[in-house]
Amino acid sequence: MSTSSWPRRRPRHSRRSLAVCPVTGKVRFRDRNTAKQALKLAAFARSRAEIDGLATRRREVRVYQCLEEACHKGFHLSSQPGYTPPGGAGMAVAA
Ligand SMILES: [Zn+2]
Repeated sequence: MSTSSWPRRRPRHSRRSLAVCPVTGKVRFRDRNTAKQALKLAAFARSRAEIDGLATRRREVRVYQCLEEACHKGFHLSSQPGYTPPGGAGMAVAA
């Protein structure tokens, strides 16, 4: 007699990784590749929205690694194409 009919009860997936950065509140990705995939999806969604004449606030263009310890070196998407010097060109800051 074997116990082959042993009921397997396992949780399908146990998520340990954070979904959102506790510091910045941004969506957190566990590695660069995952973030890049999300970036592609965002770009795709954006082009679709433009075709449909819809406004979209998705402007993510860049992947960067979070420096916050609480984020466990997660990756985020940034809407800024590159580094903007302090008080510099590009973004107008309301006084
Ligand atoms: Zn973070």
